Parts: sequence; structure tokens; C-alpha cells
Amino acid sequence: MSITGVKGFNDILPGEVEKWQHIEATARRVFELYGFAEIRIPILEKTELFCRSIGDATDIVEKEMYSFEDKGQNKVTMRPEGTASVMRAFIEHKLYAADPVAKLYYLGPMFRYERPQKGRYRQFHQIGAEVTGVTDPKVDAQVLTMLCHFFAELGLTEPTLQINSLGCKECRPVYRQALKDFLRGKIDQLCDDCKRRFETNPLRALDCKSTGCKEATAGAPSVLDYLDHDCAEHFGAVRRHLEAVGTAYTINPRMVRGLDYYTRTTFELVTGLLGAQSAVAAGGRYDGLIADLGGPALPGIGFAMGVERVALLLADQEFRKRPDLFIAALGEEAQREAFRLMAGLQRQGVSVEIDYEGKSLKSQLRRSDKFRSRFTLIIGEDELAKGRGALKNMDAGTQDEVPLSVEEIGRSVKG
Ligand code: ATP
Ligand code: MG
Repeated sequence: MSITGVKGFNDILPGEVEKWQHIEATARRVFELYGFAEIRIPILEKTELFCRSIGDATDIVEKEMYSFEDKGQNKVTMRPEGTASVMRAFIEHKLYAADPVAKLYYLGPMFRYERPQKGRYRQFHQIGAEVTGVTDPKVDAQVLTMLCHFFAELGLTEPTLQINSLGCKECRPVYRQALKDFLRGKIDQLCDDCKRRFETNPLRALDCKSTGCKEATAGAPSVLDYLDHDCAEHFGAVRRHLEAVGTAYTINPRMVRGLDYYTRTTFELVTGLLGAQSAVAAGGRYDGLIADLGGPALPGIGFAMGVERVALLLADQEFRKRPDLFIAALGEEAQREAFRLMAGLQRQGVSVEIDYEGKSLKSQLRRSDKFRSRFTLIIGEDELAKGRGALKNMDAGTQDEVPLSVEEIGRSVKG
């Protein structure tokens, strides 16, 4: 019997991978326009990093982490998200010493033990970005604008931006209490998870998908009515800056996010096209996290998007790369010539395919069609004798005679 992959861990095959490369290249290009630099963080971290940052009473830490003891009895976890690691690195390497304002992005696999389904896997991929050291709401608006810019560059009209504010460590506890008071009489309606975390994390009931929780929380007080003066000012300014640069948003006061470290601005990019997997990207401000992790008292804000979900939104588009040229050759000598030309052209930056064991001209041209090559060059005995071959532009349907030289063919193909 052959061995299959692990459940929830996917292969990304040629044909699909080109879409991923396009998403990644677009993210790099757009994020770098906004001054973000890439950081590469390891896949394995000490388990306590995630317990301390994400929070013990969250879904991720309670039930989703891939944690184990290594051979040296160290408790380690395969990262379920990127922010904690980026901030750990920011603190560990004292990046703030040179400049407290760091703009960083990352991409790579994350691991969560969840029930696999469309848009939800156990190894999945995130592209994320973080900004440290700025409280000013301009940076919130800029991060959101960059994220929307990225989706626009991909030609997507979904997802759309929803924002909220969760207040700070002064005003959130007041809201938490108000929400608890509101829900206390309705605890029986809540799902088991929300019942259990009613004391530790009551806000989660607001964006819980179970019908009971939806009914129980209908008419619950809004967090936005409990923001203190500074938080309300901050949120108002984020909105004004978004409007000033034409970034469209809606306000969703029930959006609470599943990670404990968020403060003030939180946001999601939401789509109606992926069923329950409606969040394509999400993030927020985390003004206490860097200090909680033992670093300086600097604010931060960031987001992560799920690459699988972005790829699903691009489902109908074709990103497979087309070779510049296919060389069909008849006879042994012509095939040797085709092989020589191919090597020379590739060194010049022209992508070339041949049919390695090509027999009939017909089968070679079939292969050229399959590759969807932009040009096809045909070489037989006559062409070899003349030193010229027929170069066909497959899109235009036109044909030219070209000398069988790497330079001449390269020039014709590159146009
Ligand atoms: P969800 O509500 O769908 O579980 P989340 O709140 O757990 O999402 P975040 O922790 O905010 O998600 O992660 C940011 C993004 O990463 C999500 O918006 C989503 O696109 C993606 N993501 C999260 N978990 C998974 C997963 N198991 N498989 C695929 N993508 C995921
Ligand atoms: Mg989740």
C-alpha cells in the first residue's frame, strides 16, 4: 500500500502553485510599496510564547496547537500564527533600539489542529504584516488601506472590510462586565464552549456561530458604547483617515477576534463566497503585547491573511506559466540542433520546451499546444540545410522565417 499525506496537510501542485506564487509576489510588491521588510521566523517556538500572547482561554491555545516535547524535554509548539513570533524576534534582537517603528511582513505555514474542510486545514499558510511603535490612528488606516490595495491588485471585489474597536485595558473590563450582566440570565442558551468560557472570555459569544449564542447575544450592549474618551477618539480618527483615502469599510460591533492580545482597532476582511470560512484576513491593534512579552512598552498593529482562502477566491483564474517557445524537430540531426538552440535560448532568458522523445511532427505539435507555448519553431532536414526555420506566433497565427541562431530566434521571440 502506498503512503498518503497527513490529514489536513496539503500538497500544492503545479497548476495551482502558480496562483500561490502570484499571490505571494503581489503581497511582496504591495507591502514593499508601503515600506514593509520581510522577516523570516522559525516554525517551532517555545509553547509558553503562545500561551502568554494568544491567551490560555482561546480556541487556539485550548484545543488547536501542535505541541510536543522534543528529545531534550523542551515544550515546543508548531506556530499557530505569526504575530507572537515576530514580536518575540523584535524583542530578542532589540530591533526597537535602532528604530521603535518597525514595519515587517512574513509568509509561511501555520499549524492548527482543526476539523479540515474547504478553506480550513491543519497546515495552512498566512501572509501577515506588523507595525510597531505607532499609536497614531494614521497607521491603522494605512495598514487597512494596504490590505485593501492588495486585494484590489489581485482584481478581487470580495472580501470587504469590517472594523471595530475593542477598547483598551481601562474600558474593556467595563464592557465585559456589562456584557456578562446582560448574558447572565441567558447562560443556558449558550453553546457548551461559550458556557465554559463565560467567566474567562465572555466576548467570544458575540461572534460564535451557534444559533443559541446568536439568539442570546441579540440586543447585547455594543462595545462601541463603552469606549472611553481616548479609545473613542482613536476609533473616530481611524474612520476619518480611511474615508480621506477612499478605503471603504463597514462597522461591525460584534467582531471580537479570537486572540486575547487585541486592543482598540480590530478588523476582518470578510467574504460571502466561502461559507463558514468567511474571514479571509483579520487583525488588529495589540498595544500591550510587546510589554507582556518582556519587551519595551510599545504599541503594535497587524494582520494575517489565509493564503488558501485567497486562492479559493481566485479559483477561476489561470496562472499557469506559458513557455516562450516550443521547438519541434524532425530527424536526429534536427533534434540535436533543437537541443543546442534550446540550451542557448534558455541561457538568454527565453523559456523553451521540446518533446524529448518526439516522434511524429503531429505528436510534437500536440505537445506544443498542451504547453500553450507562445511561439513554435519547426526544424526538419530542409530547414537545417537552409539554416532557417519557420517560427509561428501561436497567438497571432502569423509565421516568419528565422535564421537558426540563438540570437535571431531570441530577438524574434522576445519581440
Ligand atoms: P476562523 O474564524 O475562520 O477560524 P480565525 O479567527 O481563527 O479564523 P485568525 O487567527 O485571525 O483566524 O487567522 C487569520 C486568517 O488565517 C483567517 O482569516 C483565515 O483566512 C486564515 N486561517 C485561520 N485558520 C485557518 C485554517 N485552519 N485553515 C486555513 N486558513 C486559516
Ligand atoms: Mg479559528
